Amino acid sequence: QLSKRLQTVVSFIPKGSVLADIGSDHAYLPCYAYLHGYITKAIAGEVADGPFRSAKQQVEKCGLSHVISVRKGDGLQVVAPNEVDCVTIAGMGGTLISNILEAGREKLCAVKRLILQPNVGAHIVRKWLLENNWELIDERILEEDGQIYEVLVAERGHPYRPYTQLHVELLLGPFLLKERNEAFEKKWMMEMSHWRDVIEQLKHAKTEEAIKKKQQFIETLRLVEEALKR
Ligand code: SAM
Repeated sequence: QLSKRLQTVVSFIPKGSVLADIGSDHAYLPCYAYLHGYITKAIAGEVADGPFRSAKQQVEKCGLSHVISVRKGDGLQVVAPNEVDCVTIAGMGGTLISNILEAGREKLCAVKRLILQPNVGAHIVRKWLLENNWELIDERILEEDGQIYEVLVAERGHPYRPYTQLHVELLLGPFLLKERNEAFEKKWMMEMSHWRDVIEQLKHAKTEEAIKKKQQFIETLRLVEEALKR
């Protein structure tokens, strides 16, 4: 059974897509997506040896080697231009996801949809999308096994459209802020409590750097508190 997290990612793949799943590890996602009729073909990309071998084994075990091509390489280097129309990148930090997208920009010319699941730093991914003319069209936040995950869905379009208060919505997610489900409330209550601890620890900060850091936490905390009060 595929995790709820990856099922959520798959649920956003348009039917009939040709998919690249970057950082595929066991290739569970593309195998599931094919077996459930979401995709016609896929590339499972992996940079590391062990996960690359697991992906190959899994695809063979499912009898899907004719439709899922497992390739070893860094990010979108494993994809030829115009080869895929949907890209999933799941289970990594927001910085790594953004770096993969940035380094592979020319491979995205035929891609219509990106489905990204940053484990941390979702705001970095939202910012990259915004700056690169990808419109955030939907988002999900969910809890599984005590972890909270965000899923971001983007298509080419009007990058500023979902945002009404840019700074805080980049951090919280414009769709997630509107919906404010239980996982969302829990995530930001925990984050704010952490920020309050840091601010308390930096109460007597003396160095310029520490004072600046404290100010940043105070400012972010204030912004999020304001947004959640509305
Ligand atoms: N996508 C799967 C998931 O969400 O369950 C696997 C997530 S796993 C934590 C991250 C995977 O990404 C690892 O297997 C790692 O080797 C791979 N990875 C990290 N950086 C990568 C890159 N630049 N290109 C391709 N794969 C990468």
